[in-house]
Amino acid sequence: MKRAVLLRFVVILLLALAVSGAFSYYFIGRNMLQHDMSAMLRTIHTVDYALDYSGNLQEQVERLHAEALDAASRITVIASDGTVAADSEVDQVDGMENHLERDEVQEAFQTGTGSDTRSSESIGESMLYVAARSTNGRYVVRMAIPYTNVLDYVISIFPVLLLGTGIAFVVSVVIAVRFADTITTPLNEISEEMGKVNGAQTDFSFKRYKYKELNVISETTMKMAAEIQAHMDQLEKEKKIRQEFFSNASHELKTPITSIRGYAELLDQGFVQDEATKKDFYARILKETGNMTNLINDILMISRLEAKEAEVTFSTVRIGPLLTEIFESAEPIAAEYQVMLHKECSPVAIEASAKQLRELIMNLVSNGIKYNHPGGNVWVEAWQENGRLFIRVRDDGCGMDKEEQERVFERFYRVDKGRSKKMGGTGLGLSIVKHIVEFYSGSIRLESEPGKGSCFTVVLPFKKRL
Ligand code: ADP
Repeated sequence: MKRAVLLRFVVILLLALAVSGAFSYYFIGRNMLQHDMSAMLRTIHTVDYALDYSGNLQEQVERLHAEALDAASRITVIASDGTVAADSEVDQVDGMENHLERDEVQEAFQTGTGSDTRSSESIGESMLYVAARSTNGRYVVRMAIPYTNVLDYVISIFPVLLLGTGIAFVVSVVIAVRFADTITTPLNEISEEMGKVNGAQTDFSFKRYKYKELNVISETTMKMAAEIQAHMDQLEKEKKIRQEFFSNASHELKTPITSIRGYAELLDQGFVQDEATKKDFYARILKETGNMTNLINDILMISRLEAKEAEVTFSTVRIGPLLTEIFESAEPIAAEYQVMLHKECSPVAIEASAKQLRELIMNLVSNGIKYNHPGGNVWVEAWQENGRLFIRVRDDGCGMDKEEQERVFERFYRVDKGRSKKMGGTGLGLSIVKHIVEFYSGSIRLESEPGKGSCFTVVLPFKKRL
């Protein structure tokens, strides 16, 4: 990459130098030519001023040329009819051709000054001619110097320009190398660091660089790596939870199946003769199947909640009527456990799934009944506060200590396993409650004291964040 950057840079540099060189050579050459031409004009005017047109022009011109002018230059004096009156390079002007048709002479007679470049017929060299009308208007004084084209001047300044270009080139290449380094070195370092990636390794050590675009690469890479790592950790955690859940669920199902099988075998083999015992066995079988049904229903409920099922049907749920309905279904077990149910509800409604809300409140109410004592109470309150729905389920039952409070929302966690099972508990009720609360981006708080009772407060925002 560095080579490619350098190569392109050098090509651009050479092109720029060539273009700017060509322009400057041309303009400098042209300026020098103009400068020479005006110098020649000044000489012509001096010569014109020095000449005595009534005397011998040839003699005067030869003397002037010899004493004051450069040997390579040539002075010619042409009369208005085109005849050459004097010439510094020719002894016998009589034999010279008429000069009236020469461009610079024509121009000088017409406009006062004239110039031309061409090969001299008299001396056979390529020349620059500059001519001016004499002050008396009867002659044209012309000066000529050897000249081919603009390049004549360029050649004289070429070494200086070449040196300048060379220095500019070397300095630019050095700067280009440094510039290419400032880009390629960090990129090399970054790609080397990224090349170290091995599996989920994320401990990159990127340097800070001068250009923010380069830092963006390293920052983004680190951010992406951290996100991937967090995602992988989350997947790992979920995988573990799922595995534990399956093994717990199979274990939980195995127990009722084993006892059902035991009772069924005893009945089948005819060991039980006594009708009362038979009845008891049938009742136990029914109870165990009831437990299994509860368990399977809870497992299905959890898996549906985990899948965040799209088919959850939302409707406006009025909490008052919902509580009445829940109390009606809870009444039989409340009577069985001799627990009183109380409710206090302000008229409030929420956009939610009625089925999920029923499940949530029902689980809390039935826990309040189950983990209570005869003569105990369960109070349910619902109200609206700060744009949120509050549902509080409180009991004066057995309560639980701090350690247990922290774990009751875990799947299959039961404080008193025997008691829970006896009452058809699955250990999944509060886990389902927590899932539903999370589905609505709400929160649940538990306060409890052993022997005094428990209080669950659920807070749900009215607008579900999807
Ligand atoms: P379970 O099916 O056993 O009732 P839950 O998940 O609903 O499962 O509750 C987990 C455990 O939390 C219960 O086994 C019980 O020990 C305890 N628990 C739940 N609610 C109460 C309550 N209101 N009072 C006392 N203990 C409770």
